[in-house]
Amino acid sequence: MILMTKSEVKMQEEKISKERLLWKLEKLRLEVSNLKQEQTDLELSVESLSLRAQQLEYLLSQSNEKLEAEISNRQSREKTLQFVIALLLREKADLEIMLETTIEHADIVEELLHDRCIRDPLTGLFNRGYLEKSLHREISRAQQNQRSLGAIVVDVDHFKRFNDTFGHEAGDLVLCELARFLQTESRPADIVCRYGGEEFLLILPESSLQVTQNHAEYLRQQVKQLQLHYGDRPLNNITISVGVALFPQHGTTAQAVFQMADAALYRAKSQGRDRVVVAELPVFE
Ligand code: GH3
Ligand code: MG
Ligand code: MG
Repeated sequence: MILMTKSEVKMQEEKISKERLLWKLEKLRLEVSNLKQEQTDLELSVESLSLRAQQLEYLLSQSNEKLEAEISNRQSREKTLQFVIALLLREKADLEIMLETTIEHADIVEELLHDRCIRDPLTGLFNRGYLEKSLHREISRAQQNQRSLGAIVVDVDHFKRFNDTFGHEAGDLVLCELARFLQTESRPADIVCRYGGEEFLLILPESSLQVTQNHAEYLRQQVKQLQLHYGDRPLNNITISVGVALFPQHGTTAQAVFQMADAALYRAKSQGRDRVVVAELPVFE
């Protein structure tokens, strides 16, 4: 056994304590170095995280912008759609009312349409289309019933000159007044048509030649007496030329009767106008 002196022991203890201190110091130094490393790592992580965060923030703001644009787009489309829907609903309501009215008044509409087809819009008299149909019908009926039928063709004299003097509107007024007069003077069974500009045809079912001729003469005289005015201007001296023909005396078809009356009218014109001429009897060879 080695015996140490006190001083040696002390020295020995100091040495051990010193070594321990050195060891602890070394340990601390290592820990500090580790911590520094960790700090550096952490700083790097923070940096990369903040970079990533910035990227994410940018992407987020971009997708937010897109979303907002999409929302406002959808809102404006929705508004347009609502507007269109409101318009369509109003139109639908209008159409329903029209449909209801049409159904309710179908008979009136039908009558109006029928009237448009058969009536002359200026005078309200029957038109040429109706004349042709009704003349055929009335002649067939007269044939069946073995009755006569009178046809009177009326043409206003020098109507072109009248228009040139007083104007077309005044001419229209004369045509309307004349139509009213011819209609008023006819019997319920008679048919009054305007078949041309200033040309009228009257069909007188079940009338003799005498009755037809008398009626034509009466009309001619009365037309001369008509007191018409266009504004303040008197429209005097209106005369008509008239042709008269009879079924079956002058023709046995609608066309033949009409042609005979028209030929008589032509003669009335050439003889000086303002007169009634009866058709000549056809010559059979
Ligand atoms: P005439 O004595 O030979 O029958 O002579 P006119 O001038 O009456 O006959 P013409 O056939 O030469 O002319 C017919 C005129 O009728 C010409 C045209 O301007 C007029 N007329 C035809 N239709 C209408 C109409 O709807 N309104 C007016 N204001 N005039 C019309
Ligand atoms: Mg004429
Ligand atoms: Mg004429």
